[in-house]
Amino acid sequence: MFELNNILRQNIKNLTPYSSARDEYTGEASVFLDANENAFGSPLSNAYNRYPDPMQHQLKLRLSSVKGVPARNIFLGNGSDEAIDILFRSFCNPGVDNVIIVPPTYGMYQVSANINDVEAKKVLLTDDYQLNLEGIAEAIDKNTKLIFICSPNNPTGNSINRDDIETLLANFSGIVVIDEAYINYSRQKTFIQELTEYANLVVLQTLSKAWGLAGLRVGMAFASEEIIEVMNKVKPPYNINEASQLLALEALGNVAQVNEWIKQTLQERDSLVLTLKKLDFVLDIYPSDANFILVKTTSARGIYDFLVQHGIIIRDRSKVELCEGCLRITIGTPAENETLITTLQQYK
Ligand SMILES: *Cc1c(COP(=O)(O)O)cnc(C)c1O
Repeated sequence: MFELNNILRQNIKNLTPYSSARDEYTGEASVFLDANENAFGSPLSNAYNRYPDPMQHQLKLRLSSVKGVPARNIFLGNGSDEAIDILFRSFCNPGVDNVIIVPPTYGMYQVSANINDVEAKKVLLTDDYQLNLEGIAEAIDKNTKLIFICSPNNPTGNSINRDDIETLLANFSGIVVIDEAYINYSRQKTFIQELTEYANLVVLQTLSKAWGLAGLRVGMAFASEEIIEVMNKVKPPYNINEASQLLALEALGNVAQVNEWIKQTLQERDSLVLTLKKLDFVLDIYPSDANFILVKTTSARGIYDFLVQHGIIIRDRSKVELCEGCLRITIGTPAENETLITTLQQYK
């Protein structure tokens, strides 16, 4: 069914990628006069005068051992947002091809589609925020290249049924992108172990959420070697800067700390849910597999504005389809959550 060559853009098939100075030699060298860098150093104590490794070998090796996926199946992006954009640029002909998105979901799929002049066909989730498989099957046409599934889903917080995702993977002749930005908080299993099973699978993860490195901009795509090769061809040569590569490498050595924060976040989430349920303007709190909750209220905008006045920012999602009256609240530290609760208890 799935054949990479059938969905690849012709210009990308024909593309000769940029060849950097460091790509063009093999062997040992100690004098690098090939890249027009400043050989004296930089004004910083830790010099960054050399271009970074375009393929991020060390970082991928470390990720490979943390994730249990071979390095050749890993692509790194300047945030997973860059990986999303590169998927569009690799597979979707502007003005011709389309993708399927399943709102309410992460907003960047639509934005990236718009930037690339690619139609995003919307097939709404069901009332319990699961896939409408029939609707998706009807929406697919010969120009449909990508389907974006976010699981756990942002902003609803729930995981998407695994069987439904597998049905798509098995039947769709384009690429199924599963965005697992929140997988570290989920009770569900990741799809990154299924790469050998499905040639049309791309899994996105990020260091921005549970890993606490949103400022570094490091996102991952896991896929077949073939797909990773295409993405590497299309990406800007030095898309992960040296500081981010070094700091990410260091951070990946501290899994224990991250796991401890995940545990605390889940405990905080559960107790926040119990407390919020007692407030009379809270109508419903949806089950969450992530580090945020979606809360249905009687007056989303009023509550949002009230919190802003008290210096607390949450996300008003009440204008989003299927999210009427809903606010999205990120789980904070115990002190922050306490501040949120005591403030909300004053809302009338
Ligand atoms: C936050 C988020 C991202 C962004 O990841 P970056 O790696 O920071 O670009 C991707 N997908 C979803 C669903 C998110 O919520």
